[in-house]
Amino acid sequence: MRKSMVDQQIKRRGVNDRDVLDAMLSVPRHLFVPEKSMYRAYNDSPLPIGYGQTISQPYIVAYMTEILNLDKDSVVLEVGTGSGYQAAILSVLVKKVYTIEIIPELAASASERLQRLEYNNIEVKNGDGYYGWPERAPFDAIIVTAAAGHVPPPLIEQLKNGGRMIIPVGGAFMTQSLVLVIKDETGNITTQNIMPVIFVPLTGDHK
Ligand code: SAM
Repeated sequence: MRKSMVDQQIKRRGVNDRDVLDAMLSVPRHLFVPEKSMYRAYNDSPLPIGYGQTISQPYIVAYMTEILNLDKDSVVLEVGTGSGYQAAILSVLVKKVYTIEIIPELAASASERLQRLEYNNIEVKNGDGYYGWPERAPFDAIIVTAAAGHVPPPLIEQLKNGGRMIIPVGGAFMTQSLVLVIKDETGNITTQNIMPVIFVPLTGDHK
C-alpha cells in the first residue's frame, strides 16, 4: 500500500526526490493514525487524529518535505507535531528534528510513538510554535503544518541565512496559500506562493 501511495499519489503529481520518496516508503503511516482509521491510512487524503486535528495528505507531506531541499546535516523545526508522521519523515532525511505541538495530549502521544518506533533524532515539545524554539535556533529549515494569518516574525528570525521555510498562510476554514519563504545568504527574505491548500488553523494567543 505504501508503494502504491508513492507511485499513484506522490510521484504522479511530480515529487521525484529519491530520498523523499524513500522516506515516504519507509515510514509506517498506519502506525500514526487512530486504530479505527488504520485501513484508510494510505488513502489520498488527510485523516482525523483526535482533538479536531488531522494528519496531512501523503502528497502534501512529501511535497512540503521536498521543497525544503534538506540534506543529512540539516537541523529542522516543525510547528504542529500532530501525530508525529511528518517529523518521522523528516528524521530519516536530516540530522535533527525539533517539533512543537500546542495540544499537550498530542505532544505526549507523538513523543511516545516516535520513541517506540525508534526515531531517535527528534525532540518534541508542548508549546506554542508561533514563537519558535529560540534555545535551539537557528534552523536550516522550518515547516509549519497549520495555517497562520501571517508568517510569524519569530520563525523568520530563527531561520538561518540560506534557509527555507514552508508555511500555509491564510484564514481558518478557507483555502490558504502554501508559501515558500527563502532567506538568502545575506539575510534578505523573499516569498513565493506555491499552491492553494487547506490546513487546520495555527492556534495560540499571538496577534
Ligand atoms: N504534522 C502533523 C502530522 O504529521 O501528523 C499534522 C499536523 S496538523 C495538520 C496541525 C497541528 O498543528 C495540530 O496538531 C495542531 O494542534 C497543531 N498546532 C496548531 N497551532 C499550533 C501552534 N500555535 N503551535 C504548535 N502546534 C500547533
